[in-house]
Amino acid sequence: MAYLSNPKETIAVLNRYGFRFQKKYGQNFLIDSHVLDKIIDAAGIGPEDFVLEIGPGIGTLTQYLAEAAGEVVAVEIDPRLIPVLEDTLSEYQNVTVINEDILKVDLTALAEEKNQGKPIKVVANLPYYITTPIIMGLFEQEIPLDSVTVMVQKEVAQRMMTGPGTKDYGALSLAVQYYSHPEIMANVPPNCFIPRPAVGSAVIRLKKYREPSVRVRDPEMMFRLIRGAFNQRRKTLQNALHNSPDLGLDKEKILDALEKMGLPPAVRGEKLTLEEYAGLSDLLF
Ligand code: SAM
Repeated sequence: MAYLSNPKETIAVLNRYGFRFQKKYGQNFLIDSHVLDKIIDAAGIGPEDFVLEIGPGIGTLTQYLAEAAGEVVAVEIDPRLIPVLEDTLSEYQNVTVINEDILKVDLTALAEEKNQGKPIKVVANLPYYITTPIIMGLFEQEIPLDSVTVMVQKEVAQRMMTGPGTKDYGALSLAVQYYSHPEIMANVPPNCFIPRPAVGSAVIRLKKYREPSVRVRDPEMMFRLIRGAFNQRRKTLQNALHNSPDLGLDKEKILDALEKMGLPPAVRGEKLTLEEYAGLSDLLF
């Protein structure tokens, strides 16, 4: 049975190795067994699953994953944690630890090699400073993916869930909802971690769609359009797109497309749904 899920054992391991937390790596380790159980439940991990864990820390969540899954690969950037993980995971034959920056790992090759290219599950208590690049990387690299179940900052979870017309709505909401169905599975207060983060957290599950949620001729151009729209979100969409150097769109063309879409010329980017961005992208490119 997993044994690291309480403050006493965690502190004992940290002291044994004289470990000091590094802020730059977003190190906030879980110390609450209910939260750990919830993550495993939310991800629906079973013996047939191959799981990629990002940032195992001292191996707390990794132990839970190893008990529930068929196989686990955990990628940890901090070399000081590797001897700790060798120790805390020594009982488990189904775990491999890789000392690497997750943003540099070829995950498609990993899924191919370890899971014969079948969809993998990603589970993590993410380092918050790189939440967005990690999630976008997972979706954009076309890794065979079943779902991503992750602890993130509460506000970021809300951004992933929200729709048009709210202040949280933006490029991240649209990208997450293009590729997956997001669902917040638990809210987690700071006292479930050591050290305590300054912000509230949430476990969110992104269940990847088989096909993206809307049809668009050129998804890459649609996301460029979306980034252009939200880079200057206080401007009208027309001006924001016109001012985006990498789009090279003249005003006439933008106005014409807005009219064809039945959108007012002064509409702001934050009002458009994903379907509308897809439609606009097809008209413009
Ligand atoms: N999974 C552990 C837990 O729940 O207790 C630790 C989670 S902690 C929030 C984030 C972990 O990600 C840390 O162990 C940190 O060193 C690691 N990390 C930070 N940046 C990383 C990166 N670029 N690639 C891989 N791991 C990273």
